[in-house]
Amino acid sequence: MQSRSSFSVIVVGSGIVGAATAYFLARRGAEVRLLDASAPAAEATGAADGAVSVASKRPGPMMTAAMKGVALYGQLADEGLFAGAFKRRSTFIIAASDDECAVLDAHSAALASAGVTVKTLSDAALHHSFPALSRQAKMAVEVHGEGHAIGYQIVHRLLSAAKIKVDRDTQVEGIRVEQGGNRIASIATNRGDLRGDAVVIAAGNGSAKLLGLSDVLTPRKGQLLVTERATALNALMPGAIMSGRYLLSKGSQKGAQAAASRGLGLVIDPLTTGQFLIGGTREDFGRRETNDIDAVTQILSSAVDLVPGLAGVRLLRSFSGVRTAVIDGLPLVGRIPGLENGYVATGFEGDGICLGPVTGKAIAQLICDQKTDLDISAFNPARFNSCGVAA
Ligand SMILES: Cc1cc2nc3c(=O)[nH]c(=O)nc-3n(C[C@H](O)[C@H](O)[C@H](O)COP(=O)(O)OP(=O)(O)OC[C@H]3O[C@@H](n4cnc5c(N)ncnc54)[C@H](O)[C@@H]3O)c2cc1C
Repeated sequence: MQSRSSFSVIVVGSGIVGAATAYFLARRGAEVRLLDASAPAAEATGAADGAVSVASKRPGPMMTAAMKGVALYGQLADEGLFAGAFKRRSTFIIAASDDECAVLDAHSAALASAGVTVKTLSDAALHHSFPALSRQAKMAVEVHGEGHAIGYQIVHRLLSAAKIKVDRDTQVEGIRVEQGGNRIASIATNRGDLRGDAVVIAAGNGSAKLLGLSDVLTPRKGQLLVTERATALNALMPGAIMSGRYLLSKGSQKGAQAAASRGLGLVIDPLTTGQFLIGGTREDFGRRETNDIDAVTQILSSAVDLVPGLAGVRLLRSFSGVRTAVIDGLPLVGRIPGLENGYVATGFEGDGICLGPVTGKAIAQLICDQKTDLDISAFNPARFNSCGVAA
């Protein structure tokens, strides 16, 4: 592909992964057509917390990928593309029980051995440097060099910089393979057939139907809350708080998907606006259009337990989104099995804001026959036999 003076790529899905893929392809001279069944950032990307973080990642390829992801955010912020949209801050993982202390100790060691800068704060030191915390907090690990970004702002930056206009309300309904061949001939949409030299499926949960992945991809709902501005309290928070329970909820030490049908992992992010973003649930059921009072109550009471000052801050809104989880806990990034010109990038569950740009760059590099900055071997879609498109 790289030897051609101009080449065309159709990218399906304008969440953060599709937008980043389109951006990095455009920078390599591709003529990009970015399609979305709805609108940019309409699904998970527009309903995410936005931690750009290694803190909660499982040791192994996800931790390594997240380190690359965080580094790329920093680089793009320094270069101007993400300037003002990427807030640098630490993450404090807080343990409030003996079980959480044990998980946190093991996790901190794993982070340190991967090269992440961490600092353990025990009781007195913790409450001195983080006065907003309640006495429930027994210890914390400060993970340095992390950040926060709002998914839809990042999508906007990427698309504006590359001057890409999304084909909205364009639903891809099927993929046609050349007869007897190993190339995508065209894709069928509700607005007619389209052709490109390459096709990238970055359609989040919509990828399941297109690529035979219904048994591999699982929708996983999350509910989040946003408070009013509380600048004095916000200033007392030197970084985001992640409860040790988040690690348990995410199964980060277990190497598998979360066990419970509804897990709550508390994350409190002090935003640059002076507000707080508080999350969130991980639910294997439910619709993104709804929040339920049980979940909202549970999130709020856990947040107030850890940061009592939040009791005097009003809740402005609640919302929810649906992550795309993969049954083995790793995303699908790479060539679609059996197809020379078909690629997939999906299944980032709760990590796609962090991993979106670095993945988009990797897919663009793959299409251009360049060595990928990110090692995507562990994310090879071919590990699932069902992944593909029938000829
Ligand atoms: C509550 C919650 C909290 C989260 N918190 C974090 C966090 O703190 N940090 C982090 O890194 N990540 C977080 N995430 C995860 C992150 O939001 C996702 O991993 C990421 O947004 C996935 O991006 P995507 O582009 O793959 O998919 P999506 O954003 O879901 O985009 C897919 C797009 O494809 C389109 N589409 C689907 N089917 C079709 C079709 N057939 N034809 C055309 N278009 C189609 C959709 O309309 C959609 O716009 C969170 C997610 C949720 C829900």
